[in-house]
Amino acid sequence: QTTTKPPPLPSPLRFSKFFQSNMRILVTGGAGFIGSHLVDRLMENEKNEVIVVDNYFTGSKDNLKKWIGHPRFELIRHDVTETLLVEVDRIYHLACPASPIFYKYNPVKTIKTNVIGTLNMLGLAKRVGARILLTSTSEVYGDPLVHPQPESYWGNVNPIGVRSCYDEGKRVAETLMFDYHRQHGIEIRIARIFNTYGPRMNIDDGRVVSNFIAQALRDEPLTVQNPGTQTRSFCYVSDLVDGLIRLMEGEHTGPINLGNPGEFTMLELAETVKELINPEVEIKRVENTPDDPRQRKPDITKAKELLGWEPKIKLREGLPLMEEDFRLRLGANKKK
Ligand code: NAD
Ligand code: UDP
Ligand code: UDP
Repeated sequence: QTTTKPPPLPSPLRFSKFFQSNMRILVTGGAGFIGSHLVDRLMENEKNEVIVVDNYFTGSKDNLKKWIGHPRFELIRHDVTETLLVEVDRIYHLACPASPIFYKYNPVKTIKTNVIGTLNMLGLAKRVGARILLTSTSEVYGDPLVHPQPESYWGNVNPIGVRSCYDEGKRVAETLMFDYHRQHGIEIRIARIFNTYGPRMNIDDGRVVSNFIAQALRDEPLTVQNPGTQTRSFCYVSDLVDGLIRLMEGEHTGPINLGNPGEFTMLELAETVKELINPEVEIKRVENTPDDPRQRKPDITKAKELLGWEPKIKLREGLPLMEEDFRLRLGANKKK
């Protein structure tokens, strides 16, 4: 005799959709640079409730101060390498240090955050039926032998180098996302983010744009790491956040590159910062770190076609917006 199974309990998504059209959204790493801008954008929609979990390794409550106490907002001190029980409809999984000096500081912890942290968020997504987006990185392409980089390129990554905790960690995180998708039917989205800059970056976090702007405002030489001809493509944070939300709410799993195709050498970047922010400042050449990718530029054909997205803010427009934020935080005067 066969017994009929009871119908499954409604997932929070179906549950909240049934009673109201509110969306409950988890942002891991929401106290960080990109995360806090994403939270600002999500909170603008009155139908959204936002939960942030963060261990404050590189992020800060200050980035979210305007939302603390808001009835649709909740901030939880939590490390994603531990189990998390919340009921949500969407998970933006950003938690992971992004600046080389921070991710190299405790590489084993960086790997755990990428692997165990992503596994936990996928376990959560599976239990509650949530859609999950991973913020992967252009670093999965390593020191690329194909230029610009399309999503179909598998990359050139050193598995045992000092950057591997981050780039190999993100590669495993992508693998886990696709395995949960294939094996458990989880709805996934993967963004491969290229260098992003803007207000609220840690002033001393060691990334090139924040370094150069802070140095220009402090009248310190701009430290161009050798050879200086290496290239990056810089996306302003509001453009990036727009791409993340389009990806999450669109139909495509990705991976999809999100970045600004404008490509600059580090010497050109230094010259531009000098011209726009402090014409008196010196440019100094310093040693580089191992495995530094020599060139990087996104092919954003997929983002354009599938998400109708492309960045709007040029480097020359974004740098002054970031300068203003850094000047206020450093208490520095305008140099120009
Ligand atoms: P960030 O360091 O400002 O933010 C990361 C946040 O995650 C911080 O608030 C930090 O405290 C938190 N965090 C770190 N480990 C955690 C853990 N174990 N548990 C809970 N919280 C933890 O960096 P960001 O630039 O805002 O980057 C956000 C995401 O975007 C990261 O996943 C990063 O890999 C990705 N990304 C960023 C860039 C970029 O240029 N900024 C480029 C590619 C990918
Ligand atoms: N997990 C979590 N929150 C949940 C459900 C799961 O943090 O709501 C974690 C859980 O601790 C586990 C991981 O996600 O380590 C993977 O969960 P899954 O159910 O896929 O695997 P299993 O628990 O069967 O190993
Ligand atoms: N860089 C530099 N001066 C600095 C910091 C970084 O010239 O003070 C260079 C670095 O060698 C690399 C590029 O800027 O080629 C981007 O480095 P960042 O750490 O910002 O990001 P990522 O290497 O992750 O792209």
